[in-house]
Amino acid sequence: MIRVRVNQDECMSIGRCLADAPYVFRFDDNELSEVVPGQEGTLDEATAVRIARNCPNRAIIVEREDGSVVSLD
Ligand code: SF4
Repeated sequence: MIRVRVNQDECMSIGRCLADAPYVFRFDDNELSEVVPGQEGTLDEATAVRIARNCPNRAIIVEREDGSVVSLD
């Protein structure tokens, strides 16, 4: 299983992730993307990587269960 999280320091509030997976990502009160609680592990790896690559500022981090980060290159 993989998990996704958002580095809000890098989020530019563009919202592509919300458009790609509105059940996983939402804006917080500061209009920064966050993962909906409980949805961190619901995407399959290929989908998570595709969405993370679609973030213009690479603010979405995809991690494996052992904590290693999945490369987006
Ligand atoms: S696509 Fe990236 S920059 Fe845009 S809202 Fe999502 S995390 Fe933030």
